[in-house]
Amino acid sequence: MDDKHLYSNFEYDSALSVKEGVQQPAQVSNSYVERMRARRAQEPSVEELVSGILHGDRTLLSRAITLVESSLYAHRAKAQEVIERCLPYSGKSVRLGITGVPGVGKSTTIEALGKHLTSHGHKVAVLAIDPSSERSRGSILGDKTRMEELSVDPAAFIRPSPSAGSLGGVARKTREIITLCEAAGFDVVIVETVGVGQSEVAAHSMVDFFLLLQLANAGDELQGIKRGIMEMADMISINKCELDPQRAELAATQYRNALHLFPMPESGWTVRVTLCSAYTKQGIEDLWNSVMEYVAFTKQNGYFYHKRQQQNLRIMGETIENGLRERFYNAPGMEERIEALKQQILDNKLSPYAAADSLLG
Ligand code: GDP
Repeated sequence: MDDKHLYSNFEYDSALSVKEGVQQPAQVSNSYVERMRARRAQEPSVEELVSGILHGDRTLLSRAITLVESSLYAHRAKAQEVIERCLPYSGKSVRLGITGVPGVGKSTTIEALGKHLTSHGHKVAVLAIDPSSERSRGSILGDKTRMEELSVDPAAFIRPSPSAGSLGGVARKTREIITLCEAAGFDVVIVETVGVGQSEVAAHSMVDFFLLLQLANAGDELQGIKRGIMEMADMISINKCELDPQRAELAATQYRNALHLFPMPESGWTVRVTLCSAYTKQGIEDLWNSVMEYVAFTKQNGYFYHKRQQQNLRIMGETIENGLRERFYNAPGMEERIEALKQQILDNKLSPYAAADSLLG
């Protein structure tokens, strides 16, 4: 067998060779692709988005959230219109914040609680606040392996944190997303936060009930826990309690003792310290029962409504501040004026106060 013959044989039999195959019916496939492309390119109108959200259409809800998250000016104006129109249909959910250090079991607990809730007929939306998140890098909730069961549950909707930005910006977007989810019929909204830094303060400012998850070994760390975070909590749960129930109970006692030293919360609610295990599901049902008791208790004494009103006032204040800042920096020629004045300050020709005054005036 000569070389030429070998080669031609190889070419004929190999899967690498190009065979004639069956011709594609060009017109059909092309027009289908065109139609899909057109549909994707076509942005739904405000009307379509609002109507879709109110009918619980998850695709349109997701597209509205993408608008809310966009930094394009045109998108923001449209998003604002959608939010305004959804507002009258929002506010009916129970908003639950969950915090705790990474690894404490927030996602696993949310999955267990979420499944418990959907099996009882609730519709659950899970959002997150993580200003450090870069979605592409598998951040909080962005990692598809987390909440495996809940993420395929038709009664649940999971959305990762709006991507990295200022905490104020991420918090504002999350609040707006809560409005959209509520208008879409989700009656429980869970906001997860990383439990480090300021993001829990932001989460606390948008939820009704705030849960702090801890570990049994935290007894040693009691002093290390930021007093502010403990003061915000309506409930502290010692997670992974099945690992060492005695130690978990001891930690719970330590937390209860520590809480005695705190002033009575404004809500009048006595903060609970419980044990739970996202693995064995111990304490998960009790956790939800506590949330419901809290809601009933604070609705009765009026604190529930008072807190939501205070949250609304805070939103107005923050929106004004953001708007002023944006308007100031986006004024025509502002960038150049600032740069010019910076140089005068560096040359000691102008005081920083006079420079700021001349820009603000
Ligand atoms: P997150 O970072 O706070 O969201 O924590 P995860 O939910 O990702 O959990 C961190 C690790 O703890 C994972 O390996 C979980 O499987 C594990 N874990 C979560 N809950 C429990 C629990 O109740 N018991 C035990 N033994 N492990 C748990």
